[in-house]
Amino acid sequence: MEELIGYEDGRLVVPEHPVIPFIEGDGVGPEIWRATRRVLDAAVERAFGSRRRIVWREVLAGEKAHRETGEWLPEATLRELARCRVAIKGPLATPVGGGIRSLNVAIRKAMDLYACVRPVRWIPGVPSPVRRPEAVDMVIFRENTEDLYAGVEWPAGSPEARRLIAFLRDELGVTLPEEAGIGVKPMSRFASQRLIRRAIRYCLEEGRKSVTMVHKGNIMKYTEGAFREWGYELVPEFEGRVAAEGQALPGQVVLKDRIADNMFQQVLLRPEEYEVLATPNLNGDYLSDALAAQVGGLGMAPGGNISDELAVFEATHGTAPKYAGQDKVNPSSLILSGAMLLRHLGWREAAAAVERGVAGAVAAGTVTYDLARGREGAQVVSTSAFAAAVVDHL
Ligand code: NAP
Repeated sequence: MEELIGYEDGRLVVPEHPVIPFIEGDGVGPEIWRATRRVLDAAVERAFGSRRRIVWREVLAGEKAHRETGEWLPEATLRELARCRVAIKGPLATPVGGGIRSLNVAIRKAMDLYACVRPVRWIPGVPSPVRRPEAVDMVIFRENTEDLYAGVEWPAGSPEARRLIAFLRDELGVTLPEEAGIGVKPMSRFASQRLIRRAIRYCLEEGRKSVTMVHKGNIMKYTEGAFREWGYELVPEFEGRVAAEGQALPGQVVLKDRIADNMFQQVLLRPEEYEVLATPNLNGDYLSDALAAQVGGLGMAPGGNISDELAVFEATHGTAPKYAGQDKVNPSSLILSGAMLLRHLGWREAAAAVERGVAGAVAAGTVTYDLARGREGAQVVSTSAFAAAVVDHL
């Protein structure tokens, strides 16, 4: 009988042998997925012996799905992802001229995965462009459904843009250039609060000290400024365990806010003052990649897209098509996303083993080509040999 992950009283109920779907992905996806699966299975066995095991189930998306079913993102895949509640995916190529903007966005939208979560932490031995990468240890919660990314926009000179410009002029007295392109930036209390609430809960559960809301509310008062205010409105919900900056007592999680441009300086100059970040969609997009660069780039950065009930963990880089089939690229992004998945299941010992394994392989100098750049004495190994080195260090 198959064992499915359940959801009761706001928590996942995880059986000992949960079915977890995977999408292997396009380009380098299949090879980094093979490496990841090997590491995750070994870590679960190391942590729990034969008591626990993941029952992997392939679901199709991207080029493989198109070849086999004629569709890029079959309904059956979305149904299975929702039914099983927790999944992992490799990178997917964006179909050219397929009428789909991005399969990743389509999956997030269909499943209402409202938070993009990216932990950013340096692993000793990974080349970094900053002097103290060890001071960076943050987790970003980026809102995934609203903001300028909602896709509400019209090209310059289109009938829709012209009509909107006329409406703004005639009804609201706002004058815009006649030929302007128009994009709309919706941000709601509901979506902002569920994201910030999630970040605060994570902070409490993980014993971290602060949550920082990153916004541009000095300029965009009723969207980004409101994001900040709606965040502070949540403080009473946490019944004394959370307080706004300046009012916090020892032991309370501090909720603070920073203006986005300042935040880019802060993460470079005073990274130790920041732990969990909660951001609107666009700020979070920029900040995630900038922070990933501080600790060694996207090849190392894990990520997950989550809602209250569902989660899909994924490599944060693309399909790197020029390396496809060469057993060459770094699988760490997907492997560390797998560690996030294990922690999400509550299988902390296995998650810690994966992180130990990656750190051990890197420290031993057995690394893929990207991590060998700028590092003397490293032994360049293939994707599969790197996975073997990670298993050796679990
Ligand atoms: P990309 O696939 O991330 O590759 C850009 C460069 O990043 C590579 O040439 C390589 O740099 C480096 N890189 C990426 N992954 C690496 C890894 N695992 N190990 C080592 N180096 C790695 O970005 P892209 O070329 O812009 O996009 C290609 C396709 O991926 C597009 O179809 C895009 O839409 C899609 N994409 C998907 C996702 C997703 O599924 N989440 C995200 C982004 C892009 P060097 O050449 O310097 O070695």
